[in-house]
Amino acid sequence: MQEIPSRALVVIPHPDDGEIACGGTIAKWAQNGTEIAYVLCTNGNKGTDDPSMTTADLEDIRYKEQVLAAKTLGVETVFQLGHPDGELEDSREFRGQLVRVIRSFRPEVVFAPDPYRRTFYFHRDHRIAGIVAQDAVFPYARDRLHFAEHEQEGFEPHKVKTLLFWGAEEVDADTYFDITESIDLKIQALICHSSQISGLSESDSTDWLRNWNREIGLKCGFKYAEEFRKVTFPI
Ligand SMILES: [Zn+2]
Repeated sequence: MQEIPSRALVVIPHPDDGEIACGGTIAKWAQNGTEIAYVLCTNGNKGTDDPSMTTADLEDIRYKEQVLAAKTLGVETVFQLGHPDGELEDSREFRGQLVRVIRSFRPEVVFAPDPYRRTFYFHRDHRIAGIVAQDAVFPYARDRLHFAEHEQEGFEPHKVKTLLFWGAEEVDADTYFDITESIDLKIQALICHSSQISGLSESDSTDWLRNWNREIGLKCGFKYAEEFRKVTFPI
């Protein structure tokens, strides 16, 4: 995949997922003129081990952190769906929300978590968000009689060209992007999520990310890289 798209949408179950999964690619594309939006599915209100933290406070803190991180990467819009953390469901409501965002933002490329990871653990919200994102892209956003009420709101059906799944099994990853020039910005964006890295030094909280992207880079001949499983929709 060589072309840089004009618009890309990133489906993120929780605040910080976008930065970790594809922050380098996002920053690079944004610098080259791609308009990028996040759709933040949950409010991240369970992501703490601080005994004094409340869900209401955490939701507020994490939204502010996410907006700052998005801005750091050059993401212009954060659509907020507001589901409670850990409670995403493969429901008509959630599917309709993603279809509506796709029809309004009209991306060529959608990023989402790979729901079919098999050999290592991942969060339930990622599994559900990945499945619902794929269904929302195809065929629901494409076919006008699905969620036909969107037409009354002025949102026409939309065909996404490419879905890029992050977090795929190593054997399934087939698309690599060079993020050597944007790795530092990716790390700066991750640091915006201070509620998730409190108590750690800056290097302790980010070295793993640098090392991980370096390891991916070794597979494809770049110093730092991100990897994805690509699904295209030619029809
Ligand atoms: Zn997450």
